[in-house]
Amino acid sequence: MLGKRCGRKLEKYTPDYVVFDLETTGISPMQDDIIELSAVKVRGGQAVDEFSQLVNPFRPIPRQASMVNGITDGMVADAPPLDAVFGAFLDFIGDHILVGHNIHTFDMKFLYRAAEAFYGRTLDNDYIDTLPLSRRCLPDLSRHRLTDLAKHYHIPAEGAHRALNDCHMNRMVFEELGKELRCGAGGTLRLCPRCGQTLKQRNGRYGAFWGCSGFPACRYTES
Ligand SMILES: [Zn+2]
Repeated sequence: MLGKRCGRKLEKYTPDYVVFDLETTGISPMQDDIIELSAVKVRGGQAVDEFSQLVNPFRPIPRQASMVNGITDGMVADAPPLDAVFGAFLDFIGDHILVGHNIHTFDMKFLYRAAEAFYGRTLDNDYIDTLPLSRRCLPDLSRHRLTDLAKHYHIPAEGAHRALNDCHMNRMVFEELGKELRCGAGGTLRLCPRCGQTLKQRNGRYGAFWGCSGFPACRYTES
């Protein structure tokens, strides 16, 4: 939902969330534009509703972008502009926790920019980025792109890079990462007993200790 401050990045599993993905004209959240906006609502780990919308950026889509996501100028020629559909997207995500892959440095910035441009506010939804989460849960995997994780978990990757397909793939990956978290990822991970987020080893004045990755919102520590 719209708010005054950005939501927090969480490092945990939750069974209820909205997984989302954007396709864009390029890799700059400040200069590129959204051309597809998709989201899947998840309850108890199961997909219960979906949202998907092509967006006309009113500029040519660079060939490199079309080659990645398969979206061409012709496909968005009759699509509505972002300001006409962003409100429906906000209604769909509500105040749920957002989940996505590489969203901390990429997709969230596009959403913040749109929220500021159209409403003069930001998004205060907390969010979980499955990219850093997968690095924590699967440190031995050499690459952590969404397709690498799908392959690791034997999840079909057909139609990858179209936003709605990526949402469904990302949901399945997140559910698998959730299992890793619940069993401590084979002993490599510990979870905060207070809020369920991962614990991180930190160094303090009196030596090493475990602190919650949710700091400062959660101040749990143990020696
Ligand atoms: Zn905590």
